[in-house]
Formats: sequence, structure tokens, C-alpha cells
Amino acid sequence: MSKELHQLGVAELAAQLATREVSSVEATQHLLARARQHSALGAYLAFNDEAALAQAKAADARLAAGERNPLLGVPLAHKDIFVTRDLPTTAGSKMLENYRSPFDATVVAKLAEAGMVNLGKLNCDEFAMGSGNDNSAYGPARNPWGAERIPGGSSGGSAAAVAARLVPAATGTDTGGSIRQPASLTGITGIKPTYGRCSRYGMVAFASSLDQAGPMARSALDCALLLSAMAGPDLDRDSTSLDRPAEDFAAAVMVQAGIANNSGASSGNGQKSLKNLQGLRIGLPKEFFGEGCAPGVQAAIRAALAEFEKLGATLVDISLPRTELSIPVYYIIAPAEASSNLSRFDGVKFGHRAAQYTDLADMYQKSRSEGFGPEVQKRIMIGTYVLSHGYYDAYYLKAQQIRRLIAQDFQQAFTQCDVIAGPVSPTVAWKIGEKSEDPVANYLADIYTLSTSLAGLPGMSIPAGFGEHGMPVGLQLIGNYFKEAQLLGTAHQFQLATDWHTRAPQGF
Ligand code: GLN
Repeated sequence: MSKELHQLGVAELAAQLATREVSSVEATQHLLARARQHSALGAYLAFNDEAALAQAKAADARLAAGERNPLLGVPLAHKDIFVTRDLPTTAGSKMLENYRSPFDATVVAKLAEAGMVNLGKLNCDEFAMGSGNDNSAYGPARNPWGAERIPGGSSGGSAAAVAARLVPAATGTDTGGSIRQPASLTGITGIKPTYGRCSRYGMVAFASSLDQAGPMARSALDCALLLSAMAGPDLDRDSTSLDRPAEDFAAAVMVQAGIANNSGASSGNGQKSLKNLQGLRIGLPKEFFGEGCAPGVQAAIRAALAEFEKLGATLVDISLPRTELSIPVYYIIAPAEASSNLSRFDGVKFGHRAAQYTDLADMYQKSRSEGFGPEVQKRIMIGTYVLSHGYYDAYYLKAQQIRRLIAQDFQQAFTQCDVIAGPVSPTVAWKIGEKSEDPVANYLADIYTLSTSLAGLPGMSIPAGFGEHGMPVGLQLIGNYFKEAQLLGTAHQFQLATDWHTRAPQGF
């Protein structure tokens, strides 16, 4: 029996679009209806059917004219932190309620040029601050594997929508784990590229030295297809954009797994018996496998690692000795940058302005108190404090110094291995509200993702089975700078040999 439209991934749908078995308009209508049918998930914040259908019609015309492009006519949706002309952009905040950007973010524009159809905007934590999507001013998004649980955050709406088969792919952003962690907790695939790979232009800023866009989809191959279109220099508009051309990541994934010292062992033809990862050294940081990681998560990760061994990879013990420090370092640097970035929301130039005020200072204060939620206000206060005269040296400067050491630890580790693997999150998805009384517990849960972000390295999450409460577990793969093709290729080989990434939550 052929798959229903929403069950098709990016590559599968593209193939059917190319043979005209299905039209982009049909796919768009089907997925818009499906998204509304599952609105209880809280994944979407906004739709624009008219704009989506116009894009779909244009894609169909390009397809009819014989144009072949692996994303042409395939629907996606954007995390509501990318500004869009056709749809409102809230960044999950009351501050930006009804805000309409006069331009599209570079990532949005690039994916539109590739012919993708934008179905709408996806829920996220307010200004991408959070790990559960429960900091959104528009209500939580829910995990399709258990509606009482968080889908992860901050790209929780993106993860929920892709996992629930509401859309084949979505964009996300990752400042300290916000692509990898929600991907892990919902059983999908997501990659945060090397810092600077994707333009930050039009991405509502949280912590500029960390923020990075990336794709979330069901497979590594689908992520590779999107990343090829999203990445690339944007030097005139983003001063931290890297002058590095986008690669054809999908072709790289298909040809080989990007393995060091691999002379012809990989054929990429999908035969499970082939040891396609022969020669790949996978580093296991001992700090990622200690106490604090739930037994069910550990078991799934160990089983996945055994699978990598079957594929020919060797496991090497390594150490990332400053892993624990990544939490205080991140939670100083990210709020510091946020306090500066968010100063633009003053009630004058952007966003919400209080209805009643006595003078200018009162207007600032009331507008910001009403517009920002509690987590955002807390981070602005922490950030302002650590940057203040007298505390700058003790906190901010110290954090920057340790950040450099954390990056050096990774370079040391990459002398012993090609990629690093471990869990993404120490637990499976928790219940909505479970950690809201305990902010430190929320921050501690970021232990395995923060260091990669601080170092600016690429990292991804791939489905690797199930842990406690039958909830999904993601395996993290971390690569050296610009090694996205190697990461995606490694993940692809794993996905040829396993079917975790094809599992759908019940009822979806
Ligand atoms: N959970 C982390 C935080 O709350 C990371 C968020 C992100 O990557 N945007 O800051």
C-alpha cells in the first residue's frame, strides 16, 4: 500500500512531485488540513493558506516546466523566530504579538528560492529561551509521543510538527541545544551546523555568538537536503556569516560517510551487510556517560553504539573535562548577550507598548514588564548583572576564558577520534510543568548540548530507540568544524541499518 502524503519524508515527497504523482498544491492542502486537525498539539502559531497555496502553484508550474530541484514543491514550516513577510513573527513572546517583518530572514528566503512551500510558523520558547517549549507566551507545544509531556525546546513546535507528521521538515535554531534536544525528545533528526554556516539575518537574536539555524526532519538525508539550501555566506547582512560556500550535503551523504582513512569501504548503496563505517573512530566522552543520565537513556545509547560497531566503527574513550563548567559558562554568556540584544524592545521602535504610562522611563518599564515573560526577564537581569561594572571580570570575562578552554578540549579530543557520540539529553521528555518550579533542573538538563554550542561545533541528534515511559531517545553526534557532511553521512549509515527514525507516534 502506498504511503499517505503526510507519511512521506522530504526526499520521498520530492520524488513523487518530480514524477507528478502528486502535486505541490495537493500536498500543501493535505498538510494544512492535517495541521488544523491536530491543533491540540500546539505546534503551529500561524498559517497563511493563501500564500502557501500561491507558493505551491508556483512550484507546480516549475515542476511542469521540467525543473528538477530536490526541494521543489515540498512543504515545510518555520520556527517562529525567523522573520517572515507573509506571516507574523512573535518569537514566542507577547512583546512581538502581531509583529510583521518587512522582509524574510535569509534562511526563509533561501528555502523559498529552492521552491519549498512555507505552511506557517511554529511554536517556540519565548526568544528561544527554554528546554520545553513551556516558556512560550502562546501556550506549550506538546509531545506527540505523550501529550502530557514537553516536546523539548526551544524549537518544540518544530519537533512536535515533524514528529506528528504535520510537515516533512522544519527549521529550528540552536543556541545551547534547541535543535538537538527537541529532536531527541520527539524521535526525529536535527542538525545544528558549525556556527556561521547559516545566516543569522532575520533570526530574532537571543545570544548572537551562539545562535545558529538548522533543519529538523525525519532522516539525516532529509536534513542534508535542507541544509544544502539553507547554508552559505551572507556576508553583507550577517557579520558572523562564514565565507564558505554551501555544500551539496545530500550528495556527500549518498556517496560516502565522510570517513577518515576510508579507502573504498563505503559504497553508499544501502546494503546493511556492508561495513560502511569501517575506519571511523567514535569518541565517547566519559563525562557524558556518568551518573545523572537515566538508565533507559544509557541503555538506548549503548545499543546504538553497538550498532555503529557492527557497521565497522571503533569506539574510543575520550574526555571532555570541562563539560560540567559548560552550564555556568553558558548561563552567563547567553543571558549577557540576551540582555544586550533584547534592549531593542523598548516600546518605541519594536513591539508592545504599554497603554498607560506617566513618562518615558515608566513607558519603558511597563512595556517591558508586560511584554516579556518571567524567564526572559530573569535572563535580562542576570545578563545585566554579569556585565555590570565590578562583576564583568568575575563572571563574564571568566566565562569567556573558560569557553575558550572548552573549545580547546574538543580539539584535543578530535586528535583521538573523528566524531564524538553520546546522549543529547540526560532524560526522556518530562511532564509539562514538572520542572517549572525548579529553573536549575531545567538548566542542568542542557549538560550534553551546551559545550558544542560554546565551541561553535556542528552537532546532531538522531533517533536511537526508546527509554523511560516508552519515550524517544536521541543519540548525539558532534563533529569538528565544517564536518557536517561527515556527521550526516555517519547518521545516514546508521539510519540505513536501523528503523528508529521511521517510527511514528501512535495516532499520527
Ligand atoms: N535550553 C537552553 C536555554 O534555555 C538552550 C536554548 C536554545 O538553544 N535556544 O537557553
